[in-house]
Amino acid sequence: MFSKNDYLQIKSGIIDSHAHLQLEYCADEPEKCGTADLETLKEGQRQVIQRSLQANVKQIVNPGVDLKSVAELLELAESHEQIYVGLGLHPHNAKDWTEEAEHSLRKAAEHPKVVAIGECGLDFYYNNSSQESQFQALRRQMRLAKELGKPLIIHCRDAFPQLKELLLEEGHGLKGVLHCFTGSPADLSAFEEFDLYVSFSGIVTFPNAKSVQAAATVVRKERLLAETDCPYLAPQKVRGKRNEPAYVWLVAEKLAELRSADLSEIAETCSNNARALFGLPEVK
Ligand SMILES: [Zn+2]
Repeated sequence: MFSKNDYLQIKSGIIDSHAHLQLEYCADEPEKCGTADLETLKEGQRQVIQRSLQANVKQIVNPGVDLKSVAELLELAESHEQIYVGLGLHPHNAKDWTEEAEHSLRKAAEHPKVVAIGECGLDFYYNNSSQESQFQALRRQMRLAKELGKPLIIHCRDAFPQLKELLLEEGHGLKGVLHCFTGSPADLSAFEEFDLYVSFSGIVTFPNAKSVQAAATVVRKERLLAETDCPYLAPQKVRGKRNEPAYVWLVAEKLAELRSADLSEIAETCSNNARALFGLPEVK
């Protein structure tokens, strides 16, 4: 991955604050996710998790996007000490939000490895669910997160002003993360008044992602997180491949370059911040 393997010696390791590890995402190539056969997916998942451990990735937060994967997410976290769960409805699936859905998420969130509500949010780029249903599902998940005292994992694409409006209504007492941040420094400053962390994915490594890179240089140190959002968005050095938690180091490397910091400092910062946000235990 790097010319030198120094990242393996970094004591803090690193945390992938947002990775999708459900079976359906563990095909060999990103395009085959969802269609590969079960044995291939199982083997892919085993290897992805094993490589993350070999790559000094200490913990992983695996957020759900729909209701059908809740049981699988919990089982995966039960069989892997380092994996934690977020439970929520992605804006693409916001149309599935019902009282019953809310009830089953609230119940499932009692599991000790559930550390967040989400991912949820607004996606006005794809609009796979109506904007009205996206607002409704996000509002209810904001309330659920506050009720349960858990952070909210927020996905936001082409909807920063609308997200801010909703946060002004519902965001008091809410903490969370703007995951896979794709905005500019100006977008970032619009959210300063809220208790939000900012997480960068492989997008920050793309040569044309200048405004995201500019945002990554100005995020306050105590708010910075790194993630892969795998299986998509593999960092530049491995672009086009199926993404996986081991590659979170490539995101951290870019953050170090942009912020003129050492890789070890970024790794420690992102790990400490992820632990603080999600309430994860220390790992030796
Ligand atoms: Zn995601």
